[in-house]
Amino acid sequence: MDIRISDVANDSIVDGQGLRLTVFTQGCPHHCKGCHNPQTHDFKGGKIVDTNDIIKLAEENPILDGITLSGGEPFMQAESCNDIALKAKKIGLNIWTYTGFTFEEILNSNDKNKIELLKNTDVLVDGKFIEEERSLELNFCGSRNQRVIDIKKTIENNNNIVLKSFDF
Ligand code: SF4
Repeated sequence: MDIRISDVANDSIVDGQGLRLTVFTQGCPHHCKGCHNPQTHDFKGGKIVDTNDIIKLAEENPILDGITLSGGEPFMQAESCNDIALKAKKIGLNIWTYTGFTFEEILNSNDKNKIELLKNTDVLVDGKFIEEERSLELNFCGSRNQRVIDIKKTIENNNNIVLKSFDF
């Protein structure tokens, strides 16, 4: 399946817990002030690759903990990102997804692909980057409004947000 991406980082330790392959999807509608990845905003930019090639890249790294879907806005290509998530889980990798949407916006979107991607995500970092709320003290997110959500526990908790706990 095709996906439009800006770039891939195959040894990231900043986009989630552990060693990760990060896919920077191309195209973002949010235009947050102070965004660190403005080159990912153009929906016609970047390049188109096959999701299987991303999985192959992940398979080449035996010490990888997971794949991070970042942006850009992964939920604007939810079907392709979900394809990556499903295949990644089959080879034992976890999925973190960064989004400018909130958990509630995705859940209420009535969009099958977006909701599937949400369900196949282990940890969701949600919300726009708000420059006025920027902090360097946060784990794996940039501004205080953003939440690092444990999706499995949140779904078990009737969609009431359960934040990811960190044991370090
Ligand atoms: S959602 Fe992320 S990529 Fe999109 S504008 Fe905001 S910070 Fe940048």
